[in-house]
Amino acid sequence: DAWGMTLTCVAGLGVSGTAVARLLAERGERVVVVESTEGERQLAAATELARVGAETRFGEPALPEGATRVVTTGWAPHHPLIAAALRAGVEVVGEVELAWRLRPEQAAPWLALTGTNGKTTAVRMLTSILLAAGRKAVAVGNVGVPVVQAVAEPYDVLAVELSSFQLHWSSTLAPHAAAVLNVAPDHLDWHGSMEEYAAAKGRIFERAGTVIYNADDPEATRLAAPYPRVVGFTLRVPRSGQIGVVEDLLVDRAFVADPVEAAEELATLDDVRPFAPHNVANALAAAALARSLGVPSEAVRQGLRDFVPDPHRLAHVDRIGEVDYIDDSKATNPHAAAAALASYPSVVWVAGGLLKGADVDELVREAAPRLRGAVLLGADRARIAEAIARHAPNVPVVDIPDRDTGAMERVVTEAARLASPGDTVLLSPAGASLDMFANYPARGEAFARAVRELRARREHER
Ligand code: ADP
Repeated sequence: DAWGMTLTCVAGLGVSGTAVARLLAERGERVVVVESTEGERQLAAATELARVGAETRFGEPALPEGATRVVTTGWAPHHPLIAAALRAGVEVVGEVELAWRLRPEQAAPWLALTGTNGKTTAVRMLTSILLAAGRKAVAVGNVGVPVVQAVAEPYDVLAVELSSFQLHWSSTLAPHAAAVLNVAPDHLDWHGSMEEYAAAKGRIFERAGTVIYNADDPEATRLAAPYPRVVGFTLRVPRSGQIGVVEDLLVDRAFVADPVEAAEELATLDDVRPFAPHNVANALAAAALARSLGVPSEAVRQGLRDFVPDPHRLAHVDRIGEVDYIDDSKATNPHAAAAALASYPSVVWVAGGLLKGADVDELVREAAPRLRGAVLLGADRARIAEAIARHAPNVPVVDIPDRDTGAMERVVTEAARLASPGDTVLLSPAGASLDMFANYPARGEAFARAVRELRARREHER
């Protein structure tokens, strides 16, 4: 039979690689998983997979002899194994693409979204709206739940978050509707160039029933331009066929009975939390996707009110001496930090980490009028200091060269010293955390801990 001929190589024993291997093995396919890290978690996963007949090979990943297909989540095209497969004419597909191909006939429609920033926030807002509408919905994909795990479950609809990596390895996805939130430079090392990165994001539209795009974002607008059924969302007053903002209301002029004349009120700006312009954009995208499936406006409002933001995204930590402390550790690129900085009028900025080749000049130039001070840490802090010296030479900058566990305590102490009543101390690093922390949550937690210690010290002094 045809299955007997196939040998799938699953590249990487992560959460979705494991799910893929299990699914294929349970279908009776031959599966070899390759994984370079032989840690406790990987060994446990390999043992579990062995029980269903999938083999795991540790060590330097090599294409198994006779492999007819490679499935990956996020391996780059220039990874030696992937490159070897492509050279040999072996098909390489992503986990999401595989899920799409394996979905049952009566499977739930997909509402898909991507963007440089805001994906997780928007997909959770979308799920909340769908649940408020009484639809059996789940957030899957880049949020952490493999799509292969959900496609065969009896959901009414899947809210699918897609990264540029997942889109790069997808070719036939046909979501009911697809949205691009924004496109700004990120992950250029993986994709090779900004053109390639944007092209990967644009693939989400290729077979989408309705194309939804951020009309305020030039690159998202450009990606949507070739398609016939498009709906733009905007923070400005919506034109006919768009969703946007009129005074303090989110207004739909796209998914209404008479799009030329009618407009329908969806929610108020107060329903969007945490309140920030970029979160209004996320809410509009989520609303547009839900509305494409006929979700009523009351459910949009209720879903936004029910939405609980994920941690480390503009999370309010504390207010000490009339200064607010905000943890936006998830801002791992300049575009995300720009959105955060634009949300507060006067900011002591805590930034630094790994810039991954991104440029901070534009970000600092735009934020300059709001900056009251900056405390810089991590590998690429000098680059940020240079930008501040160029565009905001009067802003005091404190350099924290330390990399030890106490570094964040020093950061918060210095930030508190620079802040005046009414200011916001904002951890929105613009860079990845891996030079100093295990991940962005660890960085955010270190910040929150240091703020708690600051409060304890202040209370002790009183
Ligand atoms: P993603 O899943 O794309 O990484 P998140 O919702 O986790 O997006 O947010 C990532 C970071 O980007 C956070 O720091 C957040 O404050 C910021 N952010 C969220 N939405 C947007 C947006 N629409 N534009 C710019 N920055 C955003």
